[in-house]
Amino acid sequence: METETFSFQAEISQLMSLIINTFYSNKEIFLRELISNASDALDKIRYESLTEPSKLDTEKDLFIRITPDIANKTLDIRDSGIGMTKTDLVNNLGTIAKSGTKGFMEALNSGADISMIGQFGVGFYSAYLVADKVTVITKNNDDEQYIWESAAGGSFTIALDTENEPIGRGTIIRLHMKEDQTEYLEEKKIKDIVKKHSEFIGYPIQLVVTKETDKEVEDEDAEAEKKEDEDEDKPKIEEIDEEEKPKKTKTVKEVTKETEELNKTKPLWTRNPDDITNEEYGAFYKALSNDWEDHLSVKHFSVEGQLEFRAILYVPKRAPFDMFEQKKKRNNIKLYVRRVFIMDDCEDLIPEWLSFIKGIVDSEDLPLNISREMLQQNKILKVIRKNIVKKVLEMFAEIAEDKENFNKFYESFSKNLKLGIHEDSTNRNKIAELLRYHSTKSGEEMTSLKDYITRMPEKQKNIYYITGESRAGVENSPFLEVLKKKGFEVLYMVDPIDEYAVQQLKEFDGKKLMSATKEGLELEEDEDEKKAIEEQKAAFEDLTKQIKEILGDKVEKVVVSNRIVNSPCVLVTGQFGWSANMERIMKAQALRDSSMQSYMASKKTLELNPNHSIVKSLKEKVAADKNDKTVKDLTYLLFETALLASGFSLEDPSGFAGRIHRMIKLGLSIDEEEVAEVAADNSASDMPALEEVEGSTQMEEVD
Ligand code: ADP
Ligand code: MG
Repeated sequence: METETFSFQAEISQLMSLIINTFYSNKEIFLRELISNASDALDKIRYESLTEPSKLDTEKDLFIRITPDIANKTLDIRDSGIGMTKTDLVNNLGTIAKSGTKGFMEALNSGADISMIGQFGVGFYSAYLVADKVTVITKNNDDEQYIWESAAGGSFTIALDTENEPIGRGTIIRLHMKEDQTEYLEEKKIKDIVKKHSEFIGYPIQLVVTKETDKEVEDEDAEAEKKEDEDEDKPKIEEIDEEEKPKKTKTVKEVTKETEELNKTKPLWTRNPDDITNEEYGAFYKALSNDWEDHLSVKHFSVEGQLEFRAILYVPKRAPFDMFEQKKKRNNIKLYVRRVFIMDDCEDLIPEWLSFIKGIVDSEDLPLNISREMLQQNKILKVIRKNIVKKVLEMFAEIAEDKENFNKFYESFSKNLKLGIHEDSTNRNKIAELLRYHSTKSGEEMTSLKDYITRMPEKQKNIYYITGESRAGVENSPFLEVLKKKGFEVLYMVDPIDEYAVQQLKEFDGKKLMSATKEGLELEEDEDEKKAIEEQKAAFEDLTKQIKEILGDKVEKVVVSNRIVNSPCVLVTGQFGWSANMERIMKAQALRDSSMQSYMASKKTLELNPNHSIVKSLKEKVAADKNDKTVKDLTYLLFETALLASGFSLEDPSGFAGRIHRMIKLGLSIDEEEVAEVAADNSASDMPALEEVEGSTQMEEVD
């Protein structure tokens, strides 16, 4: 028979040697992984059979069967699931890379445990924890029966199976156990492991047990001897006695094989929540999610009325390693219809922002043979989905009652909540209650918006926030100066997704959310303050006009304002355009449509602080001579430092550096001749042209 040899994809090969060579004692998880694959395969054929019952003809029973063979040191895990075609074998068991392969190896390097393997989608290879060779015998309805085999070492073989009995449909994973791993062939061991890890599998897990029974059998040797005796002298009279004489027997051990079912528990969700222990919920969660840790929170409920369903939903302790991977198909909520598993990747059961929620939903109303396409339109499913979101939000609110738990939750899933703010207009306010931010008044802890409101001074009407790259980056921003002075708290929004969320949130509890870095900042001034600023506007008109002329298109407007206290000026952006932080985020996403960039890019307004000595001096300079050359240079410097302080990046960093260098020289009293010589010596540097340095004495005064 023709045997084809294939090479494992490089990373898979690497993973296999890692599994084989790493010292690891908790090897028993291999059985959980193989049973979980068997269960998945059974799910698939059952789902197909809902619309095409004849698909089960090749094997009517749906089961998982474990058969240890002590003499041959093999362990079979058989299922009557969907099986694999030859192409499936090639693709699924070795040649197509999965993102989890690398992810898992990286996780192992940073201290993760091998038992986490299932989460990374490479659980099959855990077989090599206990086996030095694995044989897969498999039969799919659409193909012949094949044998896949590999003793690792970088390659595997596939051949048409002509040696084994036909299995009808499904897969046998045959493990050729390593010399020192034969304990996994013991019945007791297998029972314990199944109980521990696979109790909630929805198909019968059978264990083929060997029973030895004593049996009395006729002792043929003895009987034969007796016969011989009889033959010698056959006194006819004795015949009667003969009947009464007992036949000679002996005891022999008879070996019989029986199957025992190892998992007889009722589906957990059909039981009364009062009778379920947290351990049971934990075990069910682990079976469902492949997680190695317990869940953070669970909600078990039923909905009755015009529609009926039961559900158990879990919040995990951590985000999955690939939560925001775009292409990844999500299979976190298993859908059942009247106890029959339908599918585990029903996108319409839960919105994307809740994709980290795990659980099961069992509907009484959906038709059993519902197709994926029908589900999308299905009204019942829409109601189920609405209820799930509602219950999940209740669960979050419960988590929030315990600060420590909530901190854990928030660390893992704050991005999801913010995505939820962005996407779910119906529940936006409920989700907003869960948001937490550091702020000018929060100290090390984070504050909720509710708590923020309790601290608002009477005259404060809005909720202020600032967006930026990091907490350290915004903490000392010039934009906070006036707000701090007025005692108005400012929230630090330093996660890129905050920019998106806050655009949708707009208000909370009737209070507007107001960016400290954008135009239209309301500062609740009294009449006197308003009058003073109007006067200053008039007084500084010449200066603002002149600066706008110098800066040209770089700014939209130049105005005086009372937004800043200690800094000379800042750059604010339009209320509906991008903030500086958003501009930074968009630039980082290099593939963004560039037309969007120019359309949305911040229109900047330069706001001058009329009380600042620099601005006052500059005003005098302009009043004395509008065309003073130093004014131009200084204006550029002011503009560029304002760009930096306001969170923008520089368009012309070397021009800026040149201007700063000139300032440094002034500070060091290096005169122009020397500057010229240095410039000539070092032509590569971006030394400024000489004539621009004039008026140095006046510049010094500015300080
Ligand atoms: P995962 O189960 O997360 O997909 P595994 O490494 O455990 O990752 O399995 C890889 C793939 O091999 C499965 O997705 C499935 O296509 C195939 N497979 C493994 N075991 C079986 C089985 N018993 N029956 C059918 N297909 C199987
Ligand atoms: Mg698996």
